Amino acid sequence: VCPRIDWEGAFSAERLAAYASLVDQEKMDELLSLGRDLRGVKVQQINSARSGGGVAEMLRSLVPFERALGLDVTWDVIRAEPSFFIYTKTVHNFLQGRPNVPDLAGTKVYWDTNRQNYAAVREDADIIVVHDPQPAGLIKFAPEHVRRRQKWIWRCHIHLSREHQFVLDFIRSLTEEYDLVVFSAAKFLPRWKVTSAVILPYIDPLSDKNRDLPPEQVREICSRYGVVDMEAKPLIVLVSRFDPFKGHRYALEAFRLVRQETRCQLLMVGGTASDDPENEAIFAELKGEVEGLPDVHLLNLPVDSHIEVNAFQRAARIILQPSIKEGFGLTVSEGMWKEKPVIGGDVGGIPSQITDGYNGFLVPPGKKGVEEMADRVNYLLKNPGFAREMGKRGKEAVKERFLLTRGVLDELKLIRGLLE
Ligand code: UDP
Repeated sequence: VCPRIDWEGAFSAERLAAYASLVDQEKMDELLSLGRDLRGVKVQQINSARSGGGVAEMLRSLVPFERALGLDVTWDVIRAEPSFFIYTKTVHNFLQGRPNVPDLAGTKVYWDTNRQNYAAVREDADIIVVHDPQPAGLIKFAPEHVRRRQKWIWRCHIHLSREHQFVLDFIRSLTEEYDLVVFSAAKFLPRWKVTSAVILPYIDPLSDKNRDLPPEQVREICSRYGVVDMEAKPLIVLVSRFDPFKGHRYALEAFRLVRQETRCQLLMVGGTASDDPENEAIFAELKGEVEGLPDVHLLNLPVDSHIEVNAFQRAARIILQPSIKEGFGLTVSEGMWKEKPVIGGDVGGIPSQITDGYNGFLVPPGKKGVEEMADRVNYLLKNPGFAREMGKRGKEAVKERFLLTRGVLDELKLIRGLLE
């Protein structure tokens, strides 16, 4: 069902050297030494989409990095029918606190799909890393003799709502057989007995999404999409999948308030992840809402539009991420890395990135944060010097804590711990 794709090789020595010049050499040496300890260790990463969304974004860089360090890493994506993804998106929404309970029929599709996809699990691997709930059930199909030889890690990148005990029971039943469960923030750690850890996510400073772009390329890409006149009308950007938790509606409401005082334009850019069936409907709904509104751009781009997203983030004066639930929110670090003041919802993984008032602003999630968000935007637009300083501090924070090198180091340390 799921052919193994050697979709990309390892990072070159030159690329590793480029990371070393960004972080300090000591950190790089630690990574190289861990790589030597783990040389030849077989790792299989499994998730549910090759591109679109934060997990794919992280794996796209983590896998070639770990290979370059000497590990035998492969990355596989489960194959499934649309009915599976409709079910798993309900599960995702449910875990993030929505009331709709996933239906029982979907449970059958879930287990059938995981059973079929087990055929692609590498029984020769030492470590299997499974991301998010979609492929979490694979472990149930590992024969006892294989299971005994392997260590399985489950990485949860979503915002686990603590509101309902049955949400936690659901996760518990899915994950109790794992050797290690890893979350994207300490506040999501489970209270039951399971070996758990936290890895804060990270961005790749050298990827197409984040590398430097010449200003003329940024301008050219913006004008290709009709985003012009940014001196007179500073650009405010929101990059996110069209998903109910990302807060597009609140960004739009805040923008309407700002426009009463200050000239500016809003760009909301999103794309379709193959494991997210809600995109089209939410996009269509938003499209209806922005119809006829001046200075609002709404773009639904292909998932591999990394350079375009990079250019929009660089063109922005301010970046918004007003999520109401957020496992981490890579888009926040992406914006901060580009020296932009980011205004984010005070939920999930966002406050681990933004120190309110220092390197960005946090606002209450949802409707109650709209006015504050508008105030912050107005303030930043009227005080460009302050905005620039805030942006610089944002980049420093990302350099310290949210780069790929740290993410790889964290994962490899956990792997070494499991193999000892
Ligand atoms: N992204 C993108 N194009 C889009 C929407 C999102 O490339 O149209 C990228 C975004 O730049 C980021 C990732 O997808 O790298 C989203 O990760 P995040 O953690 O913010 O949210 P998730 O989608 O995983 O909930």
